[in-house]
Amino acid sequence: MPGTSRMPVSLRESFNNVRNKARARRPVWSNPLQVLSIDLIRQIVFFLFVLRWTRRALWKLKGRGLLGTIVELYTDAYRALYGYFLRLPGVRTTVRKQVDEAIAKMSVKLVPTNATRYLTLPKEGWSEEAVRKELDTLANMDHTRWEDGYVSGAVYHGEADLMRLQTEAYGKFTVANPIHPDVFPGVRKMEAEIVSMVLNLFNAPPGAAGTCTIGGTESILMACLSARQKGYAERGITEPEMILPETAHTAFRKAGEYFKIKIHLVPCPAPAYQVDVRRVSRLINPNTVLLVGSAPNFPHGIIDDISALSKLALRRRVPLHVDCCLGSFLVPFLEQAGFETQPFDFRLKGVTSISCDTHKYGFAPKGNSTVLYRTEQLRSYQYFVDPSWSGGVYASPGAAGSRPGALLAACWASLVSVGQSGYLDACARIVGCAKQLAERIGANPELEIIGRPLVSVVAFRARDLNVYDIADAMGARGWHLNALQNPPAMHVAVTLPIVKVWERLARDLDEVVEAEREKERVRVVQGKGARGAATGDAAALYGVAGSLPNKSVVVDLAKGFLDLCYKA
Ligand SMILES: *Cc1c(COP(=O)(O)O)cnc(C)c1O
Repeated sequence: MPGTSRMPVSLRESFNNVRNKARARRPVWSNPLQVLSIDLIRQIVFFLFVLRWTRRALWKLKGRGLLGTIVELYTDAYRALYGYFLRLPGVRTTVRKQVDEAIAKMSVKLVPTNATRYLTLPKEGWSEEAVRKELDTLANMDHTRWEDGYVSGAVYHGEADLMRLQTEAYGKFTVANPIHPDVFPGVRKMEAEIVSMVLNLFNAPPGAAGTCTIGGTESILMACLSARQKGYAERGITEPEMILPETAHTAFRKAGEYFKIKIHLVPCPAPAYQVDVRRVSRLINPNTVLLVGSAPNFPHGIIDDISALSKLALRRRVPLHVDCCLGSFLVPFLEQAGFETQPFDFRLKGVTSISCDTHKYGFAPKGNSTVLYRTEQLRSYQYFVDPSWSGGVYASPGAAGSRPGALLAACWASLVSVGQSGYLDACARIVGCAKQLAERIGANPELEIIGRPLVSVVAFRARDLNVYDIADAMGARGWHLNALQNPPAMHVAVTLPIVKVWERLARDLDEVVEAEREKERVRVVQGKGARGAATGDAAALYGVAGSLPNKSVVVDLAKGFLDLCYKA
């Protein structure tokens, strides 16, 4: 060994020493069984590894088809490459500059600079009078007029009588917290009764259960958590997956991120815009913990084919969640109000959980929703229990610890004061209005209703015009409607305030479309090819969003928007 021969003698000796010791310590496989088992284990591990990846590849091929898989790989690669492009030194600074400019423009609109700002605690507390005066100023800040029906969704009832009652209920329970049921027994009772009333509304079987939550998002998060825990506890699933319609509320994608559940999105193709149940079926694999359908979905107000999903769920033995957050107290009354409807609730045997927002068409104040389960066992999968905390044995039903009992009181008061007759009447007025609005919009040759909406949301596309220009022009007339994407569209979620002014809404929309068409005509006559730079917010944002393969610029804009919300 040339290396060792050049070593000094003493060093070489110690090196040899160590080497000999190491050799002596090396085990001698006298037992052939031992050799076999090590080899065997190695082979088994390798086999499992190959099996795992082969299975995944097969599931993917089965779920998306060969072409679909190739397209998916291609778009993923394209998106990643575009992401790298955006991060190139020169490009990055340009993009950043444009994003900053856009955020600065947003800031002007969102954060008025002329108001007095209070950035630290006042040294001495204000007088009641002073607080009241400032609160009035805040409530009357220049805003989009929901009171006059100018806002899609957002405020679903808004009548003074109900608001007064809610405020009173709130006032009686300001300090209440359902985490202490012995201290606030009335709140415990009200929460249990809200759950019971909503279960009844959705035809829950005996043994069904539920909890109140602070909103539809928490309800959905809890339903997904429950499904994931069930999959782990009962089937040992450690890599959970769920299958969503593309149009399902994004809270499910949030649940995927929070709880590490892989998401499969399934298209909802025209003309029905319901989820493609055959593709859902193909995506089911042994890791599937939940299927999802909406009744109706937020973007287009379309009820998925819940009956077909239910059959599929039963046959393949996977849980099915129906998101009725938006449908809330409308969908259960459709039939009684004489409107066309579709099966959506626990009467379908495959439906294992439902989310229903009492704070939407249940007319409760914001911060109220419910999640319902077919069995108590399913509900207990969303519970959090810590038996060993130094703060004592701890148990909470959902994501929150302490919760506002006052909100539950205001919810309970809303439910019992409106009652079945009130909800039936509201359903008749709201859905009736949505149908008239849909008819008017559908009659406009430039516009096209998306699918066949059965509830309160009317979504539409523009045939030849830019629908975002229409949304912006409506915005300029004071209307706050919702812009949608994939495909470009917009919608109106009809509420009680809108029922009163829907004809003005329809007229304004017709006028705006006519004006946009005129602009387009002039543009064509003047022979200008491409449309000029978008001037409105929706057109600018979705123009950018729609044209980019990688949405990181939009993500930056959206984060900038969230930051602005905290600019004092
Ligand atoms: C509003 C809504 C939700 C949940 O929204 P929150 O804002 O968290 O209450 C979920 N699904 C649909 C279809 C919705 O419209």
